[in-house]
Amino acid sequence: MDDWACIVGGVERRSEDRYLVVNPFSGEVVGQVSRCSAEDIEEALQAATAGSTVTAELAAHQRATVLRRLVDLMTAHREEFITLLIAEGGKPRRNAEGETARAIETILISAEEAVRIGGEVIPLDRTVPGEGCIGIVQRFPVGVVLGITPFNFPLNLACHKLGPAVASGNAIILKPASATPLSSLLLGRLLLEAGYPPAAVSVLICSPDDAERLAADQRIGCFSFTGSPEVGWHLRSRATYAKVTLELGGNGAVIVHEDCDLSHAASRIIEGGFSQAGQVCISVQRVFVHRPVFEPLLTRLGELADGLVVGDPSDPKTDVGSMISKEAAEHALKRIQDACSAGATLIKGGSLSGSLLQPTILTGTKAGMEVNCREVFAPIITVTPYDTFEQAVADVNDSVYGLQAGVFTRDLLRVRYAFSHLKVGTVVIGDIPTFRVDMMPYGGVKRSGSGREGPRYAIEEMTDTRMMIIRDP
Ligand code: NAD
Repeated sequence: MDDWACIVGGVERRSEDRYLVVNPFSGEVVGQVSRCSAEDIEEALQAATAGSTVTAELAAHQRATVLRRLVDLMTAHREEFITLLIAEGGKPRRNAEGETARAIETILISAEEAVRIGGEVIPLDRTVPGEGCIGIVQRFPVGVVLGITPFNFPLNLACHKLGPAVASGNAIILKPASATPLSSLLLGRLLLEAGYPPAAVSVLICSPDDAERLAADQRIGCFSFTGSPEVGWHLRSRATYAKVTLELGGNGAVIVHEDCDLSHAASRIIEGGFSQAGQVCISVQRVFVHRPVFEPLLTRLGELADGLVVGDPSDPKTDVGSMISKEAAEHALKRIQDACSAGATLIKGGSLSGSLLQPTILTGTKAGMEVNCREVFAPIITVTPYDTFEQAVADVNDSVYGLQAGVFTRDLLRVRYAFSHLKVGTVVIGDIPTFRVDMMPYGGVKRSGSGREGPRYAIEEMTDTRMMIIRDP
């Protein structure tokens, strides 16, 4: 069994306080990890603060070179990352391969953005006092970036914190989820090998209380959190001077209008609802279907769900692997049972074996049921008919969340209506909400978060603008 150390200011640190990381599918122990002490955390903060004065002086080409080296190292360790993602998260091999490829891409995009951080020259002579003055606006690193990440994309989401932080010359402190820390620890080791100043690199595994103290620390310049809305909004209220980005959850919705290719929509909904066992922040959860095509779509969804291979995540044929824990799967099952007791109809699934929940399709649900109004984060979709497109848009918006929404229609006026009226961060036309390429501005509104990720946009969050005014002598 591998014994993994935390990284404190570039130095591997083991402690007596160790715990076991367990494969959620097989129950096998995957590794042993040291938890940081309060002293380690203080040391990491001091090192990061000192290290950030070094990273701030690195030229753009130097930061880009470090990131390109990291790309090469990650590529060389690709198979190791895939194995870790399958083992620590119960992720099917195909998804683990996909996440690793995306993570490498995220670092590559960050390298490209490192040399594009520009500024602005502003004419100030609009009024008399500004005569003879010009203004120059430039971006400067905030100093220390804290990235806290969830279990479901432990590698790529860590790259979305680390890549832009390095690209913009900041120190990075990563705090991965305790269930899935191994891929982030390997990433931290590789960043050091790539040559980033050691003091500026920490990967800390710690308790929620310690993580909360970190988020509240005045030395943090930018706090970038990806995880649940409950934790995210609570931590924002604890942050002091840090700029805060919150990438949180949702109850992703899709509209299927009668004028679309129904068979295509059905296969995309199955992919978006059930891949990674529904544990994706932009999973399809609520499906709103134009009444004339409701029955044929439901039938097709049922057929496709029957064809899914549910089981061992390490088997390349597996479509739907385990959830992160037996408890999470039991909680999801309870929501299905509650919906059925309150009048919903179970079309498919609804059974559990260990942490494997069968892909579940429900109809006859109400907006106020937990399977709709809460983020289920499980392989569950609800399918509901609508009569008018405007009603469907209102149904999607009837949510405290607003991350992404998908719309299947070929009508340009409906496309424009959806784009203008859906209260989400991204409207995906011709596809499901489960769409993200890593360069795009990504994030939500309402309870789903604030700020945007994607290297170019994260760099804006991780830098402050500073203005210089030059007056003619
Ligand atoms: P979580 O909120 O339980 O944990 C996220 C991180 O916060 C973990 O590192 C965890 O250890 C830490 N944490 C938990 N409690 C804390 C506390 N009190 N103080 C400080 N840190 C604390 O989320 P999760 O279960 O790991 O992940 C699932 C959630 O993440 C879902 O809601 C999902 O939608 C969301 N998510 C969002 C995005 C996005 O980009 N919008 C992407 C992936 C996941």
